[in-house]
Amino acid sequence: MANNSVLQGLAANCRLQYVKEPEPAVFGVFDNFGVVVKYLVSERQYIILVSAGATSNEAVNGMVSSLNQFAAERKRTINYTSYLDKVVTISVRDMGKNTIPALQEAVGAATYFCNQFGFIPVCKYCGNQMDLGFFAIGGTVDTMCTQCFNRRQAETSNMAMAEANKQFNLPMGILGAVLGAFIGGLIWVVTYQLGFLLFITGAVIVFLSCMLLKKMGGKFTVGGLITALVVSLAMVFVSEYLAVGINIFTQGGAELGLSFGDSFKFLNRILFDSSLSDVGYGMSSAIKEFKTGMTSDMIYGLMSYIVAAVLFIINYIKEKKVKYQAVRIG
Ligand SMILES: [Zn+2]
Repeated sequence: MANNSVLQGLAANCRLQYVKEPEPAVFGVFDNFGVVVKYLVSERQYIILVSAGATSNEAVNGMVSSLNQFAAERKRTINYTSYLDKVVTISVRDMGKNTIPALQEAVGAATYFCNQFGFIPVCKYCGNQMDLGFFAIGGTVDTMCTQCFNRRQAETSNMAMAEANKQFNLPMGILGAVLGAFIGGLIWVVTYQLGFLLFITGAVIVFLSCMLLKKMGGKFTVGGLITALVVSLAMVFVSEYLAVGINIFTQGGAELGLSFGDSFKFLNRILFDSSLSDVGYGMSSAIKEFKTGMTSDMIYGLMSYIVAAVLFIINYIKEKKVKYQAVRIG
């Protein structure tokens, strides 16, 4: 069962709200307390966060031991629990559609313990008990008081302005894109000489090119992204060409009496001289096999290039949309 439908199911059953943007999350007030539930992709678990302030140390101890007991009795469904910095946390394992009842039970338990031990709904950042709400800030769904939100919103818009005012250094950016792609290409050439080719090398070229473009250019722009992708694409072809040329020189070049330059001339003839295909059966089938090998290298390299390029484009669009967003959602 998709994680989003688990969250949707939980929202429907607990009368909470579900949002897909800026990140999939469930939020709302349950049994007096502000609850936020998310899915942590990297850890493959759901996390329930309840903002609640304790009125005494006994209350904290009661909460912690109740949470521990709750988790100990449900080792198969509960990952861990904690009460820290005015937040009750319960992590629930991903168990497909069985996760919904487990989440429901955990949300109920967390808020039940809060009421049982006299906790009060508070802003986890400042302890304020008034004007609590739910917000989307910088791509994250969170709950806090309106004053804390206003401060965060101001910070976010300052950051957005600073980013907008930052100049993109075009020559340095291009240099970075080329340098990054070149380092990636070097990895391609070296791994090829070692007798194999990392199929993720196309993606490595894209990654390094984009990273150095941003680092040396000062920021990431649409034009910069396109530049890095074009440079990277060219580098995929150049890398394979250089890798094979060098390989001809190191493997058979000495036997055939080929110099470094001759090896590339030889490669050019194989690749671009169609008259070579007519030089007898043995020779032409060897050429065919050689070209097939290069083609399959290119296919793998280009596939990983495409995957990385698409990921960078999606990430760029997503980041552009939510990085400096700060809005009330509930
Ligand atoms: Zn606050």
